[in-house]
Amino acid sequence: MGILVINCGSSSVKFAIFDDLDADPIVRGSVEQVGSPAISGHYIVREADPVPIRFPGHHDHAAALAATFSALKADPQLQDLSITAAGHRVVHGGQAFSGPVLVGESEIERIRQLSPLAPVHAVHNALGIEAAIAALPGVPQVAVFDTGFHQTIAPHVYRYAVPEFLYRDHQVRRYGFHGTSHQFVAAEACRRLSLPLDSSRLISAHLGNGCSATAILNGRSVDTTMGLTPLEGMPMGTRSGNIDPNLHSYLHEQTGMSLQEITDLLNKKSGLLGVSGLSNDLRLLTEKLAAGCEAAQLAVDIFCFRLARELAGLTVALRGMPDALIFTGGIGENSALVREKTLEHLTHYGFELDAGTNASHGASTQGIITRSDSPGPPAIVVPTNEELAIARATREQVCTH
Ligand code: AMP
Repeated sequence: MGILVINCGSSSVKFAIFDDLDADPIVRGSVEQVGSPAISGHYIVREADPVPIRFPGHHDHAAALAATFSALKADPQLQDLSITAAGHRVVHGGQAFSGPVLVGESEIERIRQLSPLAPVHAVHNALGIEAAIAALPGVPQVAVFDTGFHQTIAPHVYRYAVPEFLYRDHQVRRYGFHGTSHQFVAAEACRRLSLPLDSSRLISAHLGNGCSATAILNGRSVDTTMGLTPLEGMPMGTRSGNIDPNLHSYLHEQTGMSLQEITDLLNKKSGLLGVSGLSNDLRLLTEKLAAGCEAAQLAVDIFCFRLARELAGLTVALRGMPDALIFTGGIGENSALVREKTLEHLTHYGFELDAGTNASHGASTQGIITRSDSPGPPAIVVPTNEELAIARATREQVCTH
C-alpha cells in the first residue's frame, strides 16, 4: 500500500508518501516558488540525501506537479512502491463538504466553484487533484477539507449577526479552518491522557503562521476562532485577527487606501510582523525581546493576551472547563515563552505551569506541561501531523467504498 498526500498551496506543493500509517512517510518533499522562474523542489526517500526535482521550461502548478510525478516514477528507490490512493488537502469545502470525499469530476467542479470563498486556494487545490488523476489513472483520489471538521458547529455559533440574505445568497457565515489538525491533536491528546474522546471537553490551539483555536466537545467541533476567512480570531504571524469591522471604511477615508490594499495590510502585514515591525518569525522575536526590544515584547504580549482571550471564549461552547488544553503548530509546539505568557492570563482557570517540563515541551511527560498537583486541567503539547491525518482519512474513504 502506498498513500500519496498532496498539499497544493498558492506558491508551493508539499507531498508525502506513506506505506505504513503508524510510521513516518517513506517520501517527503516540496516544490517552492511555484509560478516563478525561481521554482525549486526536492524530495527525500526514507532518510537518504535530498533528490532535486527538475522543471524543464514551465514553472506553473501543472508543471510543478508533472515534474514531481515523473521524478518519483523514475526514482530507482521507489520502483517497488505502488500508489493505491491519493489524499489531497483542500482548504475550503464551504457548506458542500462536511468530511473527506472520493473525488470525481463533479467534486472537482464543486471545489472550483468555491473560489469566491477561497480565492487563493480553491483553484490550486483543484489543479492538484486533476494532475494526480492524470498521473495516476484509476487510483482513487480523496479530498480532505480544512473546514470539514467544523461542519458540526451549530447555527447560533456559525452565523454572524447580519441580515439573512448575506447568508442565503452569499454564504456569509463562519466556516473555521485547520480542522484536520484540530481533529488529529484532539484524538492524540485523548490517547495520551487516557480520556474517552466521545465524552471529553477539549480546547486545541493550533499556533503556526496561521493560528486558530477550537472547542471540541465529545470529539466534535462546537466553536472555532477563524470565520468566513482565516483572518478572524486571534492575531497571527502576519494577520491581524479580529479588528473593528469599521476599520476598512475608516482607513479608506483617512488614507485613500483601496479595499484590496487594506485587506492585504490586515492579512500580510499585520500580526506579529506588523506590531514588531521586524518579523513574523517568533524565533527572531524571542531573541529580540530577550535583548530588550520593546516592539518585539509588545508583539508577543498582544499575541498571548489575545490568544488567552480567545481560549477563554471557547469555554462557552464547551459549557464548562475543558478536560485539557492542547498546544500545537510551530509556535504551540516550540515556544515555551508563548505557552507561559498565555497561561499567565488563565491562572484563574487553575492552569499551573511546570517550568521545567514547559521548557522541554513536555518531552518526558507525554507533552503535559502543567504540574500534576495543579488545581485546573492539564495543558499538553501535541505535535500535529496533517499529512498523516490526511493519509488516514484517505485510507478510510477508500476502504468504505
Ligand atoms: P508552522 O506554520 O506550523 O510551520 O509554524 C510557523 C511558526 O512557528 C513561525 O512563527 C515560527 O517562528 C514558529 N516556530 C518554529 N519553530 C520555533 C521555535 N523553535 N521557537 C519558537 N517559534 C518557532
